[in-house]
Amino acid sequence: MAKITFLGAAGTVTGSKYLIEAEGKRLLVDCGLFEGTKELKQRNWDKLPIDPATIDWVLLTHAHIDHTGYLPRLYRNGYRGPIYSNAATHELCAVLLPDSAHLQEEDARFAAKKGYSSHKPPLPLYTVAEAQAVLTQFHEIPSNDPFTISPQFSVLPHDAGHILGATWLELTITEGGKKTLVVFSGDVGRFDQPILKDPELPTHADVLLCEATYGDRDHAAGSVTDELADVISRTAKRGGAVVIPAFAVDRTQLLMYYLRELVEQKRIPDLPVYVDSPMAISVTDLYARHYGDHDLRPQTSADPLNLAHVHLTRTVEDSKKINDVVSPCIIVSASGMITGGRVLHHLAKRLPDSRSAVLLVGYQAEGSGGRALQDGAKFLSIHGEQVPVRAQVIDIGQLSAHAGKSELVRWLSGFQAPPRQTFMIHGEPGGLNGLRDAITSQYHWPVTIPAYLQTVDLNG
Ligand SMILES: [Zn+2]
Repeated sequence: MAKITFLGAAGTVTGSKYLIEAEGKRLLVDCGLFEGTKELKQRNWDKLPIDPATIDWVLLTHAHIDHTGYLPRLYRNGYRGPIYSNAATHELCAVLLPDSAHLQEEDARFAAKKGYSSHKPPLPLYTVAEAQAVLTQFHEIPSNDPFTISPQFSVLPHDAGHILGATWLELTITEGGKKTLVVFSGDVGRFDQPILKDPELPTHADVLLCEATYGDRDHAAGSVTDELADVISRTAKRGGAVVIPAFAVDRTQLLMYYLRELVEQKRIPDLPVYVDSPMAISVTDLYARHYGDHDLRPQTSADPLNLAHVHLTRTVEDSKKINDVVSPCIIVSASGMITGGRVLHHLAKRLPDSRSAVLLVGYQAEGSGGRALQDGAKFLSIHGEQVPVRAQVIDIGQLSAHAGKSELVRWLSGFQAPPRQTFMIHGEPGGLNGLRDAITSQYHWPVTIPAYLQTVDLNG
């Protein structure tokens, strides 16, 4: 009996991990970190219900940490098998996983110094050495061609339009001669956006796992560039700084693309832009190399991601010097959900300044600093201190890398027949219920919202 166990992103957005079992073999699809609330993060420390050494293969949809960030922990606990992903995802993981480990180590050191950790002494979830070790287990598979993992499992990846290298997967499970086609949505991206290709539409599946990050809402209509131009010009006039917490992958590149366009069209003043994330800089280099995976073409522009007055900061010293900048400027820094990283010290400096503005440009998980700002917090806890929020906080949902509700419904419109089972995953309760209701009213498919750690028979 082929079965699936929901080891993460069930009833919540983060921690994507799906264990598929057939003929005694175990395949793990995605291996993400839980992020957000204390309770969710505790799950990263809990023992998995199965021994990682008994997993045969890992298969990845894309490189985001909530889909890959548990890999070094899986390694620590005994996993030594292959990890399958396309080349872009592999290269992104080579940047993201050591960085994630570095943040874990830094947090543990900082907590030790300030004495606010629940672990005594504070420990990192995993180390840079473990992240490096697990990277040696990667095997690159084709981006758009079928790949056979074993007699039980074969996969056909498709473009998801979400970040560089992001795919949704058609997994064919063969058990006792019987085939079951499972579609994993991964994270579905946007239609008609610059840089990335549109998501391809699936046409058939026996079982569908569909993400519902924005299952209950659409991104605001209206032009991203108008909104960016407006906020940046107004903030510059006040003499403030614009701080943009941005995911190093994709959101930073998209922002650089828009900022360059706005400067060229003279719709914003040509302010100094600080891209303060060594990771974002490395990822931008990757975009420049993987032309086959996105829509930017070297011949359409000399350097589509380049800005004249952009300062790329790699070192901590240079990062700290940005605090001394008193003239209007734009600071793009990770993490995108204000859960760690250099953006914290920029916010500690700029949030109390009413002339400045903070732009939220991506999904903000429950329990994250970004969600607190979205919800109108008057103070933000940064490094154990309460920082007053006087800067203007603006949410630019149009910059999201995730499909909004109608885009998810559009992605599902390609199905020629209803999947036998549809599972709503990768959403908070509002998103999960919202998309389920949309699917049942529009397509009349049976939809299930699985519980964390639930196991389901795929042929049931
Ligand atoms: Zn993602």
